[in-house]
Amino acid sequence: MTSTRQDGDTWDLASSVGTTATAAAAARAIATREDSSLFADPFAEPLVRAVGVDLLTRLASGELPPGDLVEHVAIDVAKVRGKFYDDFFLDAANAGITQAVILASGLDSRAYRLPWPAGTVVYELDQPQVVEFKTRALADLGAEPTAERRVAAADLRDDWPAALRDAGFDPTRPTAWSAEGLLGYLPPEAQDSLLDTITELSAPGSRLATESRPNPKPGEEDRTKESLNRVSERWRESGFDPGMAKLRYFGERNEAAPYLAGLGWALTGRTVGDLLAAANLPPLREDGLRLGNVRYISGTLNETPN
Ligand code: SAM
Repeated sequence: MTSTRQDGDTWDLASSVGTTATAAAAARAIATREDSSLFADPFAEPLVRAVGVDLLTRLASGELPPGDLVEHVAIDVAKVRGKFYDDFFLDAANAGITQAVILASGLDSRAYRLPWPAGTVVYELDQPQVVEFKTRALADLGAEPTAERRVAAADLRDDWPAALRDAGFDPTRPTAWSAEGLLGYLPPEAQDSLLDTITELSAPGSRLATESRPNPKPGEEDRTKESLNRVSERWRESGFDPGMAKLRYFGERNEAAPYLAGLGWALTGRTVGDLLAAANLPPLREDGLRLGNVRYISGTLNETPN
């Protein structure tokens, strides 16, 4: 039974918010098997298998077809989202940025699969049990990082910069930051504080990629919760109860894109619909999860911060 969120709550990859990282990796595994021409994450399936949530392992391995359990659009979104962040990091690396920070890294395998230029340092930050598990699981798989990988175990609602600095992070060098699939799992004030802190730790020329969504119109969030509950119900009937509607923070919050613009970031954004169209994938239908409202944003901190 999933409990509602509380300050200071913790998790591993098979509980609470940690299951969202395992579910995201399961979607990447299904996407990779279906068509790896746009995006491929060969570590997704073995990592999900290592976590050991039976339903997610069976979905990731292909033993259980996605059917009604994973809507096909979620698999297409995993492809375009995966490619968006891969391209973001490779563009930054090709522009000479040699320090990358993957916030809320979950089961992200970019430090093991992207062709990082020599000398790149990739930091991964997530809850202690999450980063420890992934480090061990990838070592057990015999995987070798393709960059110098350093991990920081911290809670992003706490003093996470201390953990990053302890791992060797250098705020005087430009950084490429990602916060993928994270913001809705932070309370509104923690989101603002995270974006403020990223900006403070960013030397001029640093880059950032994340997601931004407008505040809900009246009634929209109730529909989102109903949709999440419907998905959770189907998963529960198949043996796993993710309690998805209890994991996010709902309600008003600052919208990431204008908030970051106010901090001096020059960002551009593309909707999920834009990314699907660019990849020649079918468009979104009206969806209760408001996937169509998500904008994937990326850009650079002005040379002279505001
Ligand atoms: N970025 C990964 C991806 O796209 O596959 C994981 C996304 S998953 C939906 C959300 C991630 O955010 C989880 O790995 C979770 O542990 C992390 N997370 C959420 N709140 C956090 C917090 N307060 N401190 C550290 N990590 C957090």
